[in-house]
Amino acid sequence: MHFSRDSTGAYVAYAGIPVESHGTLSLPIAVEHPGGAVDSVIVSIPVSSARFGTEQLSVDPRFTEKPDSALAVRIAHEAAAIRVAWEETHHTPQLWHGAFQRPRSSKITSVFGTGREFNGVVQSRHLGLDFDGSIGSTIRASNTGVVTLVGDYYYSGNIVVINHGAGIATAYLHMSKILVALGDTVTRGQLIGLVGATGRVTGPHLHWIAKYGAVSVNPMSLLTVTADPQKAPASRPATRPRGRTRG
Ligand SMILES: [Zn+2]
Repeated sequence: MHFSRDSTGAYVAYAGIPVESHGTLSLPIAVEHPGGAVDSVIVSIPVSSARFGTEQLSVDPRFTEKPDSALAVRIAHEAAAIRVAWEETHHTPQLWHGAFQRPRSSKITSVFGTGREFNGVVQSRHLGLDFDGSIGSTIRASNTGVVTLVGDYYYSGNIVVINHGAGIATAYLHMSKILVALGDTVTRGQLIGLVGATGRVTGPHLHWIAKYGAVSVNPMSLLTVTADPQKAPASRPATRPRGRTRG
């Protein structure tokens, strides 16, 4: 977890909880005081079960058949690259500031968490959010960050991942055109690409992903995150002389 200080001086951290979680989440937290003494505390957070619907989709059968070995290698390679992009967020200082914004203002056509049947077979859960759009409609960065992955992937089509730091990433899939390059710093609201129908899709739309490390979170929940790093240094708060610690 990545702690920062809010405008009242309290330490704040955000975390993502996997979609199948329920019951109680136990978080061990160690507070290191100046001088080296360490307090530890286990914080218990109740997690309520979420209910999700299911939906049926029809796609080209080549996307649901068992891939041949060459394609399986490609898919595994792309999945590994994406996993690395998620993990990098935990090794990047907080780059985002202010509120996250929607990448498009259009209608949401599929919500987060829905169970998906492709051609009659349940294959996955929809771990993103779909925005309506026609080919060429604009896609904007949700917040400041660094472009950490750009590719043309089998399932994702043209994909851009933005590393916002402090554990948070957003990804933008199925683009017709990518307008940023690997390593670019982008700011909130910057045009990063155009809506398309590349990869495994039923038609043009934007599939928007939000991650906390490897954990997929509801992108709508990201829109409620408000900590401001201008007032909230992300680095080792317990070692700061004016740090207020609890626990
Ligand atoms: Zn989607």
